[in-house]
Amino acid sequence: MKRLVILGAPGSGKGSQCKWITKDYDVPHISTGDILRKNIADGTALGVEAKSYMDKGELVPSELVIALLKARLDEEDCKAKGFLLDGFPRTVEQAESLDEYLKENGISLDRVVNIEVPDEEIMARALNRRTCSNPACKEIYNLRDNAPQVENVCDKCGSALFVRDDDNEATVSKRLEVYHTQTEPLIKYYSEQGKLSTVVGQVLLEDTIKLVKAELEK
Ligand code: AMP
Repeated sequence: MKRLVILGAPGSGKGSQCKWITKDYDVPHISTGDILRKNIADGTALGVEAKSYMDKGELVPSELVIALLKARLDEEDCKAKGFLLDGFPRTVEQAESLDEYLKENGISLDRVVNIEVPDEEIMARALNRRTCSNPACKEIYNLRDNAPQVENVCDKCGSALFVRDDDNEATVSKRLEVYHTQTEPLIKYYSEQGKLSTVVGQVLLEDTIKLVKAELEK
C-alpha cells in the first residue's frame, strides 16, 4: 500500500503518470479537479460555485476542497489501499490540513513526486490536449505528439473527445501564475519533510514513467 502525492504545474503530465501509478500500485487515484468537474456535471451547488473559479484558472476556496478531499480519504478503498493525490494539496494551507488529517489517522505520506516542465511546454500541451468524455476512460490525447487515430474519437473506447473549458490560453496563463505563487512553495514544504522526489518531464511519456518509477521504488 502506498500513500502518494503528485505535484507539478497544471499540464505537466500528472494525469498521465497517475494512470499507470494507480494500476501498478493498485491505489485509488484522487484528483480534486475530477471531483470538482463531476460536481459541475451533476449540477450540484458546490459545482456551480466551483465552476466560476475553475473557468478563470483560480483556485476554488480551500475550505470546500479540503472538505471534499477528507470525505474521499475516509472511504474504505483509501483506508485499505492507500491513495494517490493529484491536484491536492495546492497551497501550504492545504498541505497542513492534509498533514493534520494524516496525523489524526495515524498514517503518513510515503512520497511526493514533483514533475518539472517549462511553462512554454505546458502552454503548448494544454492547447493541444483532448480528453475522453467517458468518465470510466478519461484517456488523454495530444494533437501534437499523441493524436487519436480518428479526429475527436477516443482510440480506447470510441467516445467523443473534448477540450476542457479551462484549456484555453488565458486560463492556462492564469493557472501557471497561480501555480508559481501558491503551489510551488510545496516543493520546499515536502523537501523539508524529506519526502520529495523531483523528476524532469521528458518529451516521451514512457521516459518520464521510467524516471517516476525509479523514484517510487527507491
Ligand atoms: P486540475 O484538474 O487539477 O487542473 O484542476 C482544475 C481546477 O480545479 C483548478 O484550476 C482549480 O480551479 C480547481 N482545483 C482543483 N484542485 C484544487 C485544489 N486542491 N484547491 C483549489 N482548487 C482546486
